[in-house]
Amino acid sequence: MMVNQYDWDYGTQSVWAGEDRYLLQGATQVPVVHSVSFGYSDIDDWYDVALNKQEGHIYARNTNPTVDAFEEKVRLLENAEAVTSSSTGMSAISNTLFALLSSGDRVVSIKDTYGGTNKIFSEFLPEFNVDVELCDTTDFEAIEREIEKGCDLLYLESPTNPTLKIVDLDRLVTAAKREDALVIVDNTFATPINQHPLALGADLVIHSATKFLGGHADALGGVVCGPKELVDKVYHFREINGSTLDPMSAYLLLRGMKTLDLRLKQQEASALEIAHYLERQPLVEEVFYPGLPSHQGHDIAAQQMEGFGSMLSFSLKGGLDAVREFLPTLNHAHLAANLGAVETIASIPRTSSHVESSAEERKAMGIPEGLIRYSTGVENTEDLIADLDQAFEKLSEKQLEYTNR
Ligand SMILES: *Cc1c(COP(=O)(O)O)cnc(C)c1O
Repeated sequence: MMVNQYDWDYGTQSVWAGEDRYLLQGATQVPVVHSVSFGYSDIDDWYDVALNKQEGHIYARNTNPTVDAFEEKVRLLENAEAVTSSSTGMSAISNTLFALLSSGDRVVSIKDTYGGTNKIFSEFLPEFNVDVELCDTTDFEAIEREIEKGCDLLYLESPTNPTLKIVDLDRLVTAAKREDALVIVDNTFATPINQHPLALGADLVIHSATKFLGGHADALGGVVCGPKELVDKVYHFREINGSTLDPMSAYLLLRGMKTLDLRLKQQEASALEIAHYLERQPLVEEVFYPGLPSHQGHDIAAQQMEGFGSMLSFSLKGGLDAVREFLPTLNHAHLAANLGAVETIASIPRTSSHVESSAEERKAMGIPEGLIRYSTGVENTEDLIADLDQAFEKLSEKQLEYTNR
């Protein structure tokens, strides 16, 4: 087990880390501070805080104690020098890109980034004269070639959404460093329990805290960790554009994080069993889960991750028509766009993560139209399998009906 700067296990750290200094008057929980501004009776103190010579807060668009406590917990889990947060995962991603890129820069990335990120690459950055090259996600040689052609920023994500492709972070970080390129990794699917891109040489790691960090599907947030010099630039852009994390959301995310390790253990144990179960189902066409030895990226995942996570996807024989029949018959799954929550969530990429992509674009990304993304929750494993079982039974009855007609 990797240890962090406290020498605590990650499970212990997710419960305790980063909170002590924010506790008030013996309270055992971090307060939710809703104040927009912070008053000073001494003008010189106020001025020193404004100049960053003294710790403190001035205005909540910039900093807030509850937000600080949340950020600190993530920073410690990622073992990073510095951290900043923002209102959503997408604002964390766009703030980072817009804070660090300039006109004329060249970005190399992969085709399988999160749908919103993909839109920034294809729609917005080109408007600012930033050239973006999107490579086949698992063709590492092609990605290396593109990096060698000139690269200011390499942007990666692993495992990817929704087909759980695994990107060889070590190999691509090494290639990027030869070109002095910055490397940014979206670590949302892996979580700071299972993968540490900074330890592999990445410069910045980003999370949509909305997903596993919060874990309860009740708060949006984003976070960026890395060296102070880079994080300060992202923070500066964020304090000016105003995409600040709300204190109540920061509190919910922080509270959710206390069980991050605990949740993940149950979720990924279930995910592995479910993936094996799905592989045996006659109505399933293909199962995507990095924990399966049959998965294309299994070996790399086993090397760079400490666990395979709780996200999996599978395609049904019969495509979208079968999905339409199958999904509503699940009893233990929200049919919704979110992931990483305590409840199991089933979704289809064509209505959630990749709703903005055209059918051709989804095809180019290798996303079957009949794909179901399954975010395994913390429910009892046998209950989840029984639920899938009854849904498959109904689907096969339905299909028999059709063939007998
Ligand atoms: C959800 C998600 C995002 C975007 O996060 P929001 O909080 O919804 O803005 C970015 N990357 C990945 C991998 C995601 O799953």
